[in-house]
Formats: sequence, structure tokens, C-alpha cells
Amino acid sequence: RYESVPQPPGDAIFGIVKEFRASTHPSKVNLSIGAYRDDQGQPWVLPVVKKAELQLVQSPSYDHEYLGMEGYAPFVQAASLLVLGKDSKAIKEGRVAAVQTVSGTGAIRLAYEFYKNYRKDAPILLPRPTWPNHPQIAVEAGIKTLEYRYYDAKTKGLDLAGMLEDIKAAPPRSIILLHACAHNPTGVDPTPEQWKQIAEACLSRDLDVFFDIAYQGFASGDLGRDAWAVRHFEERGFELFVAQSFSKNFGLYGERTGALTCVVGSKETAAKVTAQLGRLTRALVSNCPSHGAKIAAVVLNDPALYAEWEDNLQTMSKRIQTMRDQVFDILTKELKTPGDWTHIKNQIGMFSYTGLTKAQCTALRKDRAVFLLDSGRISVAGLNEGNVRYFAESLDWAVRN
Ligand code: PMP
Repeated sequence: RYESVPQPPGDAIFGIVKEFRASTHPSKVNLSIGAYRDDQGQPWVLPVVKKAELQLVQSPSYDHEYLGMEGYAPFVQAASLLVLGKDSKAIKEGRVAAVQTVSGTGAIRLAYEFYKNYRKDAPILLPRPTWPNHPQIAVEAGIKTLEYRYYDAKTKGLDLAGMLEDIKAAPPRSIILLHACAHNPTGVDPTPEQWKQIAEACLSRDLDVFFDIAYQGFASGDLGRDAWAVRHFEERGFELFVAQSFSKNFGLYGERTGALTCVVGSKETAAKVTAQLGRLTRALVSNCPSHGAKIAAVVLNDPALYAEWEDNLQTMSKRIQTMRDQVFDILTKELKTPGDWTHIKNQIGMFSYTGLTKAQCTALRKDRAVFLLDSGRISVAGLNEGNVRYFAESLDWAVRN
């Protein structure tokens, strides 16, 4: 009956992870997967998460009951506050609809389902390039996608002119997806001045704005700074959907912890939108996983633990920045590698678009066991004191060959 089912193409990232595992090279480096690693190359359970988890499971009231369709309220409310900030007018006026989701991916899927129902036939504009799951989820949800220019390969920075031009040419009232910070895969973010122009362009086409924020606090180490764009758009009067992931900033990857926060026009609308999101959740997954949300809620609602969390965020973002600086210094000061490498330092977050060609990336994997994606994207979190020099020397080798 199912003989004709075709084999799907393998996942590019997980395919490279497999190659890495199979490699017997003594200096092999895994720069493919987007998960934080400590300076020994190991997964890192945030100390504050460990503490909150212990507190949680030792509490006599801890249980494994269903959370309900809208999720765990102390978590959901704290998530909205985290992204919109304590000065948010929408929060003060009760104009926020929000539910828990199956991490960031689930929030994106849920938002698409909502748009499909209530913004019928509106296409969604995605940056080029973007996280491959953005278009993939749209295909499965049956939503049409368009693209806007984002990355300029020549400058290895933002193609602001192209982006604005494409936004201004978008079908009126389309939906636009924006990475709030630490753009994946390029590591290139607009500056506040550029965000203002982007907001202006979105207004000119009356676009529905959908932020994906998967790296709040992880990108710069500053929770407010990483949410600047979202808060600016709120101040400009936009109604917004915001998909929030707690995978990176809490290190809760497998616990599938997320939220969808929406700024809407009135308190009445917020109540209806929340109820509809609950209804859609019921049909998709019924209920979200509880453990990660309860851990995050403990931290987000306790000022002392919150401060500790901010400290843990600094540890992660600083280590990544140190690795960027070291790669830059070895390339430019010691090896005098041909080319301009400032982008390695200027890009932000987990990822960097190195600008290497596909042939150079293949050679790096084959001859140096440096496992990066064909696009030249590296996960900077895969670098550490033990392998950063080998990586920089290999990069230098690839550029000169
Ligand atoms: N959006 C972007 C841009 C991401 O990079 C990620 C994580 N790779 C996500 C959303 C969501 O991830 P998760 O479902 O693990 O929260």
C-alpha cells in the first residue's frame, strides 16, 4: 500500500552530524548543530535551571497533570512580560493574547494555523536565507511563502536596500516573518536605526508582523537589548505575533518549552485570540509538555533566580563572543589570512556565515574534519579553547588552497 512513498531528502544539518560521528580524525570539530556547548565541548545544563528543577520536583505539590490547552499560566504570563518588557502598553491595557507552545517550532506552526484560519490566503514573507524550518512548516500548514532579500554576500552584512525594496513591493497586508535577534543562519541583525526603517516599510504595506525570537538573552547577554525590535514595533502601534523559544536561553532544548505572545487591538480581541489559539492547540497537540515550562516559570517569577539566569546568559554569550574574537585575531594578526574577516566579530549569536564557498566547505570536511554546512554557516558554540586554533588554521588552509 505504501510502496510508492518516496524517500525524502536527508536533513542537511543532521546528515553532517552523522558524518562527524563517523569520522575518526583526532582533531574533528563539529560546527553544524545549533546547540550551546561549554569550553569542553559538552552540553551545558544552566546552573540556575538545575537549581529550579530540584526545587520544583522536591515540592510536594509537583505533579504531571495536563496543563490545559492554553498552557501553564505562570509561565505564559512571564513569557509575554519577558519579550514585551515591563513598560509594554499592551500588557498594561490587557491587549496581549498568549498561550504555551511546543517550543519555538510549535509557536511558529500555531501562528501559521491561526493565519490560515483568520488571514485567509495571505502569503508569508520570509527572509532569504532563513531557518529552513520556516518554509518547511509553511508547506505542511498549507501557507504560501514569498521571500525578501536579507543577506548581502558581498558585504557579509544586511542588504537593507534590497530588504526595504522587497517589503515595499509586497502584496498589501501580507504577513512578514522577522528574526528578532541573532538571525539564523547568518548572524546578521539590523541596527536599531535600520529596524526603524524596516518598521516604516512594514507600515507602508500594512503588513502583519510575525517575530521569531529564539535567542533572547543568548545573543547579546542582555534580555532587553535582544528584544529591542519587538518592543519598538509594539511602540509603533503594530499588532504583533511573537514566537518565543526557550531552547537556547534556558538550555531546555528537548523539553520543548515555548510560547506564542500576540499584541492585539483590545482586551476583548485578546480574550478571543487566546481562546482560538487554545482551540487550535487542542487540535494539534492537545496539551504542551509541562516540565520545561514549570522550570522556566520558577526562574522567571523569582527575582533572585532571574538574576542568576541573567548571569548564566552572560556566561554563554560571552564565551561565544570570545570565540569570535579569537578566530578573528588568529586569522588577521597571526596567519594574515587573505580577505576581510570583520564579519566573524560583527555577526551575533550562535551562528556565523563565514563566506566560504561550497567547495571550501567540502574540502574542510573531507581533509580537515571540520564539519560545517555547505552554506559556510558555522555554529560558533562548537568552538572552544581546545579547537579554535585548529579551526582558524583550517579556515586559513581552505582560503589559500
Ligand atoms: N527559530 C529559529 C530562528 C531557530 O533558530 C530555532 C532553533 N533552531 C527555532 C525557531 C526553534 O527551535 P525550538 O523549536 O527548538 O525552540
